[in-house]
Amino acid sequence: MLKGKNAIVTGSTSGIGLAIAHALAAEGCNVLLNGFGDKAAISALVNELQQKYRVNVDYSPADMTKPKDIVDMVAMGERMFGSVDILVNNAGIQFTAPVDQFPAEKWDAIIAINLSASFHGIRAALPGMKKRNYGRIINIASVHGLVASENKCAYVAAKHGLIGLTKVVALENGDYDISCSAICPGWVHTPLVEKQVQDKAKAENITPEEATKEMLGEKQAMKRFTHPEQIGGLVVFLCGDAAATMTGAPVIIDGGWTAQ
Ligand code: NAD
Repeated sequence: MLKGKNAIVTGSTSGIGLAIAHALAAEGCNVLLNGFGDKAAISALVNELQQKYRVNVDYSPADMTKPKDIVDMVAMGERMFGSVDILVNNAGIQFTAPVDQFPAEKWDAIIAINLSASFHGIRAALPGMKKRNYGRIINIASVHGLVASENKCAYVAAKHGLIGLTKVVALENGDYDISCSAICPGWVHTPLVEKQVQDKAKAENITPEEATKEMLGEKQAMKRFTHPEQIGGLVVFLCGDAAATMTGAPVIIDGGWTAQ
């Protein structure tokens, strides 16, 4: 189904984005990777995906805080592959502090990477998608696009905004075979969450295992992590025929977090 389609996955050098890149490549999709990391490790990743799945893989070093980089990344995808059919806006960062102690520069960075970068990417990719009458735009939001937690003002604001953006893009493109969905995961075990586990363990003088148990227990009915590969599988589903009319909606995968 996705054989020969061309995708950009932002923030795909780690965690959920990397798993999405694997899942799309396994379906025969060419993938433009993006994200930070060691140069040699990223080259090895490009080679690994290329050899494992026999698809074209390239890498854009675009910084998601820089609109021009994002426009250039989309242009690179169109140049390298001939089109950008699938855009997965995944890059994201986290920072936690109460609002009155939240550093202004952290607020700006989170809004830029977790929200504005998706706008710039979608804006750049849509003209090509409209011309070809095909596009799948998937924004990796969060349960924090639907509900709030303390100490995450910028993240919660950005993810709520991302779901709003998802709805508008869906409404504006209903006359085309272009869908825009937002995936809303609960806890997924990635480096971003591992840092929160370590921070909590340190702050409360408990073991990382105890911190993990508390974090999961506090929010989710299912006291276990979602795996990045499961988000990858969901992206493939959203790009497939069964999901062709799924648009403008948050797709929740949260172990029951938002059920209460
Ligand atoms: P991660 O830290 O493992 O990966 C983040 C990726 O984003 C990395 O590839 C990193 O290099 C890239 N990145 C960061 N800043 C960037 C920038 N300025 N420009 C380009 N790339 C940049 O995190 P993750 O847990 O895999 O998170 C991925 C997405 O999933 C984020 O949007 C996050 O908010 C969302 N999410 C994560 C969880 C979770 O529990 N892990 C839950 C809900 C939503």
